[in-house]
Amino acid sequence: MRGMMMDRPLRVADILTYAEEMYAFEGIVSNTVEGGIHRESYAEMGTRARQMAKAMLALGLGHGDRIATLAWNGYRHMELYYAIPGIGGICHTLNPRLSAEQMIYITNHAEDRAMFLDLTFAPLVEKLAPQFPQMQYVVMTDAANMPQTALPNVHCYEDLLAAQDADYDWPDCDENDAAGLCYTSGTTGNPKGALYSHRSQVLHALLVGVSMQNAMRVGKRMLPVVPLFHANSWGAAHAAPLTGATLVMPGPHLDGASVWELMQAEDVFAAWGVPTVWLGLLEEIKKRGAKPDGFAEVVVGGSAAAPSLIQGFEELGVNVCHAWGMTEMSPIGSLGQLSGPHAALPAEEQLKLKSTQGRRVFGVDFKIVDENGARQPHDGASTGELYVRGPTIISGYHNNAQASAAAIDAEGWFGTGDVATIDPEGFLTITDRAKDLIKSGGEWISSIDVENMALAHPDVANCAVIAVPHPKWDERPVLVAVPAVAAPDAGAILAHLAANLAKWQVPDDVIFVDELPLTATGKVSKLTLRERFRDHALSG
Ligand code: ADP
Repeated sequence: MRGMMMDRPLRVADILTYAEEMYAFEGIVSNTVEGGIHRESYAEMGTRARQMAKAMLALGLGHGDRIATLAWNGYRHMELYYAIPGIGGICHTLNPRLSAEQMIYITNHAEDRAMFLDLTFAPLVEKLAPQFPQMQYVVMTDAANMPQTALPNVHCYEDLLAAQDADYDWPDCDENDAAGLCYTSGTTGNPKGALYSHRSQVLHALLVGVSMQNAMRVGKRMLPVVPLFHANSWGAAHAAPLTGATLVMPGPHLDGASVWELMQAEDVFAAWGVPTVWLGLLEEIKKRGAKPDGFAEVVVGGSAAAPSLIQGFEELGVNVCHAWGMTEMSPIGSLGQLSGPHAALPAEEQLKLKSTQGRRVFGVDFKIVDENGARQPHDGASTGELYVRGPTIISGYHNNAQASAAAIDAEGWFGTGDVATIDPEGFLTITDRAKDLIKSGGEWISSIDVENMALAHPDVANCAVIAVPHPKWDERPVLVAVPAVAAPDAGAILAHLAANLAKWQVPDDVIFVDELPLTATGKVSKLTLRERFRDHALSG
């Protein structure tokens, strides 16, 4: 017998319609590209998104069209997040930190018909434009700031918008129609497209809203440093309007000082981003001797958060939530929110749990398997590759049969490429990305474990542990470190590691560098480091 409930589609536009009605006085605060703070309520955002929807239809764009954005976190980008799927289009967020080659590949692979760009990116897009002969461009600014540009088929965002009224009804759609597209940064091989549906976006917004109740509610202000072009800003773009939280958008101003000032001026409660951003903010806090007043929660993810980073914030009274996920998972998979008996543990025990990647969110199932595909117990000790399943996880990659076949196993689960353990209470620990693991004399070394330990030494500001080829042991670990002091002591760092790790896990060398190379999503690029130090001569 089938249930007798209405079969109404889950639509992205319904999130905005709800926010317009219910949270008319909450909204978006943006530190703009042009300079200055801009404020817009969700009611205004709804009106402007409908005007923009009509403007896009007038440009000949419509159902099934891929429409690219190349923009920072700001109100116009948020309007597009709703206007594009609201005309049946697919909002394709391009990552401006990718190489020109990758941007050309992605834009052509997605077959984008139009590109919306922030002022910042006009010079870059002018160079790429000959590769996209049919493209229409919209510069996300007003007439007063419209640049002199050589771009063909170019329009001004505010002019397009002003020419339309807001008399537009979001059309019905199939909830499984595509609504968003985001490519992985493709550290090896070509980038691959995760194609989100209206249904998956709405479900993801709900699961983020339910799991992040501290920040996701009326009266709270949250700042996504994580970009709208990085996996839906981890769901903030949809969960904030759904729950009534106000978004404070940093625009292009992402350094520690700018983030501190914006948080202080706008009374930000929670902020989300990758560890490198939070190391920068911690430094700024140290310099000023104070955290921003209302700052109470930080969500850190994208790569492992070291216990020392977590402790740094907790000592300031800022609750740390460690998040794990992937572009292919919309992206949230697990969160480190402690509650019940876990929240009552002594601080030291809590720090241990917070340093894991947390527990799965509703709708995401986990399994870990060995190299033969056999399931491993969730006993906190057995390791294996982590596979995931759920309605917010890709079933394949956009227009890429080969990568799709490789990603999904015979039971229909998606292989994350992460190596993990899960304990009986469901706490997930990622020991490494499979390709970052170090194999020394038949033993696996978790680079994350060694990095976490190294970061606990006062001479180390940031670091990465990578494998260097070794004639006898196959590979040996090397610590690449950014020093925190003028005269760092490599011997003392290695002694500290030797006191806390098994002998074979201790790196053979410490290489000091001024800074670590970052990937397009702001994470330390171990691939670049491996290439740079491939021929590094090891002692022993
Ligand atoms: P990319 O960085 O390639 O664009 P994603 O941002 O989707 O892709 O990265 C997903 C990967 O980042 C995960 O598979 C995992 O290896 C790593 N990752 C994300 N969050 C964490 C975390 N909290 N701890 C450790 N690794 C993480």
